[in-house]
Amino acid sequence: MRHFDKSTACLRVLGVRLGLGEDESILRERAARRAGIDVAEVRGVRIGRKSLDARRRNKRSKPSFVVHVDLILDEGVEKRSGARFGQALRAGHAVWQTPQIPVEVKPHSSLVGGRVIVVGAGPAGLFAAWVLSRSGIEVDILDRGPVLSERSRAWSSFLRTRELDPESNLLFGEGGAGTYSDGKIYTRVDHPLEVPILEEWIVCGAPPGIAYDARAHIGTDRLHRVLPELRARLENRGVRFHWGTRLESFVFDGPDHESIRSLETSNGEFSGKAVILATGHSARETLENLAAQGMRVEAKEFQLGVRIEHPQELINRARYQDSEMALQLGAADYGLTCKPSQGAAGAHSFCMCPGGQIVASVNQQGLLCTNGMSNSRHSSPWANAAIVTTLGPKETGPGAFAGFDYREQLESLFFDSGGGDWTAPAQRADDFMAGRDSKKLGASSYKFGTHPARIDTLLPDSVRDALRNALDRFDKQIYGYAGSEGLLVGLESRSSGCIRIPRDEITRRTSEFLNLFPAGEGAGYAGGIMSACIDGARSAQVLLRDGVS
Ligand SMILES: Cc1cc2nc3c(=O)[nH]c(=O)nc-3n(C[C@H](O)[C@H](O)[C@H](O)COP(=O)(O)OP(=O)(O)OC[C@H]3O[C@@H](n4cnc5c(N)ncnc54)[C@H](O)[C@@H]3O)c2cc1C
Repeated sequence: MRHFDKSTACLRVLGVRLGLGEDESILRERAARRAGIDVAEVRGVRIGRKSLDARRRNKRSKPSFVVHVDLILDEGVEKRSGARFGQALRAGHAVWQTPQIPVEVKPHSSLVGGRVIVVGAGPAGLFAAWVLSRSGIEVDILDRGPVLSERSRAWSSFLRTRELDPESNLLFGEGGAGTYSDGKIYTRVDHPLEVPILEEWIVCGAPPGIAYDARAHIGTDRLHRVLPELRARLENRGVRFHWGTRLESFVFDGPDHESIRSLETSNGEFSGKAVILATGHSARETLENLAAQGMRVEAKEFQLGVRIEHPQELINRARYQDSEMALQLGAADYGLTCKPSQGAAGAHSFCMCPGGQIVASVNQQGLLCTNGMSNSRHSSPWANAAIVTTLGPKETGPGAFAGFDYREQLESLFFDSGGGDWTAPAQRADDFMAGRDSKKLGASSYKFGTHPARIDTLLPDSVRDALRNALDRFDKQIYGYAGSEGLLVGLESRSSGCIRIPRDEITRRTSEFLNLFPAGEGAGYAGGIMSACIDGARSAQVLLRDGVS
């Protein structure tokens, strides 16, 4: 990947077409032409985004890639180019790119010589530590879960014995919630820190295509090679990891409780100049303890629904023109949205895992929540995705933790109705639509097995109606989506967090405590791996800039 500096500028040329068999070297000329500039002006070329357009507009239309091409140009290109360049900008064929911002920030004097504590070794915590350590600040990362190798052993044991370890599971431990996932790494955040973060993932072993692929993903198998490398690189810069260390409460400095002196944990006390709190969306008891000590917490909207699974072949058939394309391009994916209509709320697909499997992403006995993961080759015969609608305080009632209560009541209902041993309740999509029992369920990738249940009656009416409306619409876009080959598996209740820890927009700290920086998904500021990385990294930059005085 090539950076641009002060003497060069970066122009993103949007929507350049590339045929499936065409060589990428053609993009330099094609992008320059589309932007109305002389190709001799181009100093460098980089693919900014690349996505497949497999829509069938007519019988003769062929699938192709739509590429956003970044052209590195010398300053002053506007003056040297003619009117066609101005026209291209006005028509939206090209836009100037914001220069990247440096990762390192000179530490504020109040931080020099001190340590910063990061709570949570998920994407937000890891990338906060990445920025701090690169800027010369010493960091302790605490995580209640274990290092990756141990975590994977706990996961295998859970699959074998159905005995859940509440501190080592798909949600807690090295890498956080996305460690067993599709590792989708694309984001709509479009932040200047995105490129350096992607570069770090690539240096650690992620495929270089994540820098531009509009559907970039790493896959669980690769993530498990990348994360230890990231840890090693952080340790080399002096970051200390403390596994099996659960934050319990704050210890305050002075009687006015304005700042936090140290953290009481399951593994002793840790002191530092500041705390970055990135505990993810499932650490309810931690947040309740901290709220009892004065940290403000408020309810926010969250998503709830089910997982839907189909044979991957059904999705490939709908998305590609022939089966050859699946061999060439890999398992097809989708992203579907249904606006509110006929009195039902809107719903959308989320976290689609082509060639993947449905997993129990749980940390508490008796509460069943599902999610999806895939390996880097997307090689299983199944495709699954969340179909969710949005709920908020209007549905859950008042109180900061009402969303948790609402979510947990349903998770408990789904756990019991699956038989109480992590078997998941399931219903065929056509039976869900018709409101009847599923006599026989098709096979599923979900390892604990499925049990026929009336998902249409287990879900709250408003969620059922939103999902039915959406499935009806999606069936028109993907033939067979709501038919007998679709299987609804539930519950999918944690595709987002249900609380927010309020923080100042500029200083990113809480108004209650001068040195507390909530970050990531659990604090309500991210909704995926990449947005969590960016949020953690940016919070660390602001802490470095402003200090804690
Ligand atoms: C199965 C699954 C698949 C997913 N797939 C994708 C995907 O493909 N793409 C995508 O963008 N997103 C995906 N997500 C969502 C993504 O993983 C999260 O958005 C992201 O991990 C949030 O990052 P975070 O750092 O804010 O929190 P988390 O990743 O949740 O990390 C929080 C960390 O804090 C630790 N912790 C919690 N409480 C304490 C405490 N009291 N003391 C110490 N440590 C504590 C936890 O052990 C955990 O390691 C998936 C999630 C799951 C569960």
